[in-house]
Amino acid sequence: MQISWIKKSTLLDFPGKVATIIFTPGCNFRCRFCHNSEFVLPEKMKENKVFEDLISEKAFFNFLESRIGLLDGVVICWWEPTLQKDLYDFAKKIKQMWFLVKLDTNWRDPEIVQKLINDKIIDFVAMDMKMPFSRFTELIWIEEKVDNYKKTAEILLNSNIDYEFRTTVIKNYHDKETIEEIAKDIEGAKNYHLQNFIWWNTLEPDFDWATFSKPELKEFMEVAKPYVQKCTIRT
Ligand code: SF4
Repeated sequence: MQISWIKKSTLLDFPGKVATIIFTPGCNFRCRFCHNSEFVLPEKMKENKVFEDLISEKAFFNFLESRIGLLDGVVICWWEPTLQKDLYDFAKKIKQMWFLVKLDTNWRDPEIVQKLINDKIIDFVAMDMKMPFSRFTELIWIEEKVDNYKKTAEILLNSNIDYEFRTTVIKNYHDKETIEEIAKDIEGAKNYHLQNFIWWNTLEPDFDWATFSKPELKEFMEVAKPYVQKCTIRT
């Protein structure tokens, strides 16, 4: 498992739990608003010697062992963990230490998500819904299979585990109609979370950015609410 960075403790990233987060290098997407181009673009990863400075699995598991009884779980997240070939075995090893496991994914690999759920390796999944299924390439810049997008969402909607769909909302890209369309795509979802975009170090340097006001975000929440069980916002 390639580990770029560890945040030792967080109360914000695994709902209701004290967790540690590990960040994995590389992503198949090229979101125009991504804040982490140095961990996403191969040329920048090379320039920043990302693969030379990885944290070893041994060091990570030693750290985890020292946190038994202090942490509830581990979040495996950015930049896209399903690119890691040994994700299953790595997550299983964490689970065998009796930690809860949360996976944050951009939905690229429904098969691994299904297998991790079926084998009770993961306890929570957070999945990005950047755009409605019908417009999904507008923000990610490269072609991907829309089938995978739909399949991963369906897997979560039909599962018994906890999950959250989330959208980073950006002016000029999202409006009430777009949010309603996304909410319809995930109709019945347990949790749908809207978070405001904050401009910082974007992958597209002159990304046309702007943030919504709190009242505007609340309007989005009201639009989405009829379609999902719970909708929350982060301003
Ligand atoms: S999916 Fe996340 S990590 Fe990947 S390019 Fe988009 S914002 Fe960046």
